[in-house]
Amino acid sequence: MRRLAVCASLALAAALAGCGAPPPRSASAAPVAAPAPKEPPRLIVAISVDQFSADLFAQYRRHFTRGLARLQQGAVFPSGYQSHAATETCPGHSTLLTGTHPARNGVIANNWFDLSLTRADKRVYCAEDVTDPASTSRDPVVSARNLKVPTLGELMKAANPATRNVAVSAKDRAVMMMGGHRIDAAYWWKNGQFVTLKGRELSPAAVAQNVEVAALLKTGAPALDLPAFCAGADNAVPVGKATLGTGRFALEPGKPDAVRISPRMDHLTVELANRLVDELNLGKGDAPDILSVSLSATDYIGHATGTNGAEICIQMAELDKAVGALLDHLDARGIDYAVMLTSDHGGLDMPERASQQAVPRAVRVDNSLMARELAKTVTARTGIASPGGPLLYSDGGEYYVNAALAPAQKAEVVKAMVAILRAHPQVAAVYTAEEMAKTPLPTGNAQDWSIRDRTRASFDASRSGDVLILLDRAVTPIPEAMPGAYVATHGSVYDYDRRVPMLFWRRGMRAFEQPAPVETVDIAPTLAALVGLRVSEGMFDGRCLDLDGGADNTCGAK
Ligand SMILES: [Zn+2]
Repeated sequence: MRRLAVCASLALAAALAGCGAPPPRSASAAPVAAPAPKEPPRLIVAISVDQFSADLFAQYRRHFTRGLARLQQGAVFPSGYQSHAATETCPGHSTLLTGTHPARNGVIANNWFDLSLTRADKRVYCAEDVTDPASTSRDPVVSARNLKVPTLGELMKAANPATRNVAVSAKDRAVMMMGGHRIDAAYWWKNGQFVTLKGRELSPAAVAQNVEVAALLKTGAPALDLPAFCAGADNAVPVGKATLGTGRFALEPGKPDAVRISPRMDHLTVELANRLVDELNLGKGDAPDILSVSLSATDYIGHATGTNGAEICIQMAELDKAVGALLDHLDARGIDYAVMLTSDHGGLDMPERASQQAVPRAVRVDNSLMARELAKTVTARTGIASPGGPLLYSDGGEYYVNAALAPAQKAEVVKAMVAILRAHPQVAAVYTAEEMAKTPLPTGNAQDWSIRDRTRASFDASRSGDVLILLDRAVTPIPEAMPGAYVATHGSVYDYDRRVPMLFWRRGMRAFEQPAPVETVDIAPTLAALVGLRVSEGMFDGRCLDLDGGADNTCGAK
C-alpha cells in the first residue's frame, strides 16, 4: 500500500519507472490526498454493476480512467464470491445488502414455481407480490415481499428513522433486493421510462428524468466511439443469420429497448440517481443515508452480444464514465460518502465466439434438458403422463413435478428424471430436494466449496424444485441463440459466474488490494460497521472486512 501511495503522488510528475504509465485521469479519478476519516460517512453509495464478472474487471481494469479508476484507489477485493449456485440477478442482488445467502433470504432464483398458487400462473417472479391479484410473474406488481430478511437500509432506518433508503436501477428486482421492504424512493425502467412502486407518484426528479428520456427516444442518437483499447475486440462473429462483435449502439428514434440494451441505460440511471441526491438532500440529513444504484447495461449487452466483443468493450468505457459522473456529482455537493461497487454475478461469452477462442467445449444446452422434452422422455420411460397441465415445470436449473400426481407416481417420476439427467453428457450434478434438505449449510472458504455446497447455498425447501441440475462447465443454457437479444448468459455453478470484484472507496482512505477470496455476503456487515450500526449476533452470514489498510480497524476493536 505504501508503494501505491507513492505512485499516486508521483503520477503528477509524469510516468516514472516502477509506477507504470498512468492513463490520463479526469477529475473523478484524481488521486486524493486527505486525512483518514474518523467519523462515519454520511452517505453509503452501494453500486451493483450487473454481470460485472471478476474476469471483465481483470480484463479492463487497466483501461479505466474515471470512476472505476478512483475506486481502485480504495480497498480492492478482486475475488468476491457470489458463493451460491443460482448465479442470477435476483439471488445475486439479494446477497449484497442483506449479508445473507439465498438459502436464508429465500431468493433462490429470478423465478421459481409455487404449484399451490390458486392463480393460473404458477410461476413466481422474485420481486412480485403474489398476494396482489393484479400480479403475474411476467407483469408483476413489484414488491420485496419474497425477501425473507431485512436490507442494510432497513436496518439503518430501524436504528434511526431519519435515514433515507433510496434505490434505482433499470431492473425492478435489483431495486427491491438492494432496497428491501422499506424504501423511501424506488425507481426502475419499464417500457421506456422510469416507474415506481404501485400506489406511489413519481417525484419531480423522476418526472424531469423521464422528460430527458423522452427527448432521447424522440431524436435517437449517433453511434458511440470505439475506444482505442477496443480495437482488438472489434471482430465479427457469425451467430445464426446475424453477426455480432462489431456493434456501436447507434440509436434509432422510438426504440426504448435499444436504449435499454446500450450503455445509455447506465447513464440515464446515474442521471436519475444524481437528481435524487439533490431532491432528497442525501448525505446532508440527521442520519446516514443509503443510495443503491444497480447499473444493468453490462448485463443486457452481455446477454445480447456476448462478453468479448466491441460491444462490451465500449460498455466498459461508458460504465467507467457513468460511475465517474456519479462520484463527481457527490463531490460537487460536498457530501462525505463511502462507495461500495460489486456485481450480482459474472458471465460467460457466447459459445460461437468462445469456441473460436480456445474453449472448444463451449456449446449450447441440449434441447432434451428443457422441461417439455424431458417430460416426454420421462413419460416414455415410466408410462406416467401429466394429470393435467405440464408434467414438469421449470425455468431452468430446477424442475417441479406436477403436484396432482399421487406420491408414489411422483417418486417414480423423480427417480426416472434423476437417472436420465445423470446419464446426460452436459450434466455435472443432479440433486433431489430431499438430498439437498439433508445437506448442511456450507462453511469455510467459498472458493473451495463443492458443487453440492454451492447448490445448498441457494436452496430453500419451501421454494426450490423437486430435482436440481447443474450443467457442465461452458454449457450455455440457451438452446437457440437470439442475436441482439439473448445469446450468452450466466447462472452456472462455476467461477466465471460466481466471482465478482468488490471495491470500497472513501476519501482519505489508504489503498490496498487483498487477493484472498471474500464473499458478497461480507458487504453488509462491512458497511454496517462503517456507519456504526450495531446489529444482533448472527444477523449476517458474512463477516466484516477491515477496510483500513493499516493498524486501525473499521470493524471495531476486537
Ligand atoms: Zn443477466
